[in-house]
Amino acid sequence: MESNIAVIRGDGIGPEIIDAAIGCLDAVAERFGHTFHYTFPLMGGAAIDTTGVPLPQETIDTCLQSDAVLLGAVGGPKWDNLAGHLRPEKGLLGLRSALGLYANVRPALLYDQLRNDSPLKASITKKGINLMVVRELTGGIYFGPRGFRQGKNGQEAFDTEVYSINEIERIAKLAFEIAMGRRKKVTSVDKANVLDSGRLWRATVSRVAESYPEVRLEHMLVDNCAMQIVRDPSQFDVLLCPNMFGDILSDEAAMITGSIGLLPSSSLGTTKPGLYEPIHGSAPDIAGTDTANPIATVLAAAMMLSSSLGLTQETATIEKAINAVLDKGYRTPDIWSNGCKKVSCSKMGELIALEILKTK
Ligand code: NAD
Repeated sequence: MESNIAVIRGDGIGPEIIDAAIGCLDAVAERFGHTFHYTFPLMGGAAIDTTGVPLPQETIDTCLQSDAVLLGAVGGPKWDNLAGHLRPEKGLLGLRSALGLYANVRPALLYDQLRNDSPLKASITKKGINLMVVRELTGGIYFGPRGFRQGKNGQEAFDTEVYSINEIERIAKLAFEIAMGRRKKVTSVDKANVLDSGRLWRATVSRVAESYPEVRLEHMLVDNCAMQIVRDPSQFDVLLCPNMFGDILSDEAAMITGSIGLLPSSSLGTTKPGLYEPIHGSAPDIAGTDTANPIATVLAAAMMLSSSLGLTQETATIEKAINAVLDKGYRTPDIWSNGCKKVSCSKMGELIALEILKTK
């Protein structure tokens, strides 16, 4: 297969983790006989330094013409004092909007080899953590009417949670499709005991569920869900969330797996290319030291292969390769513990690429 992949290196550790991921993609290409054509459009601080804006039109065009977009991370103190519209993060928001990305999909997986890194007790982690947060990304309270006004007690501010049936159906279908390829369970999160938007969310998700009789649906109030994630995360398969609840719960789910350097995410639209990235930022404190953990970015590339290019066997091969490297005791500093072999970011990338070439 031939594919065009737009690769945005970004800022801070972005170029280091992206180089490791490209090494792994090249190994996949060699092993399975694919050709990946990479382009390297600029975004974030790197784009500001070169072109004066965080998201040049050329970058949008290149991404739209690609089959998928792989991103390192953007931002850093160098650009923190610029005006709001020139901040690196504006580039990311602009790109999400240009690509029409309405869903954010974030797996939270605890590796057996890293159980001790979880802040949860061993009695909880022994049952494993392998859940997928499917978050609605373009609706809800972050996008509803908002503002400041004079109320009876003086100035007040308001934000409004708004969801249409169409928006809920679209994200619910995606969650059920994802569940079909996993353990066939969807937990839909809402606040239906208080919010009308929550009641519409619950009714709509229940209706979508009728088209997926094999998938077990449960509804859970968001406050209970936040508690259940730390009480017994093994009960969850796919967590379907409105925008704000997904924002919060996906960080909670990430935390219980131990390291921010291990988790990828994908943002998906209807027709345009998906965007794949690690969940962490540009980590300016360790940029340039070759100590970042590249696994989240390698896993983002793996998600890209199955979600955008239909290459599921290749995704599984990358995942197995990462497991094999961890089994052999190799660790970047963020997940290192006594008795393990400490390796750099680039070395970790090379080790995974080598395993890809030989993993059956
Ligand atoms: P961060 O995720 O960059 O870093 C938080 C901590 O985690 C740091 O101590 C960092 O060293 C560590 N860390 C992060 N990734 C790591 C990895 N792969 N391996 C090892 N350690 C890792 O969050 P922050 O410090 O709040 O933000 C730094 C910059 O990143 C800011 O400019 C922020 O706006 C930006 N940011 C960008 C994105 C994105 O591009 N999607 C997301 C979040 C933050």
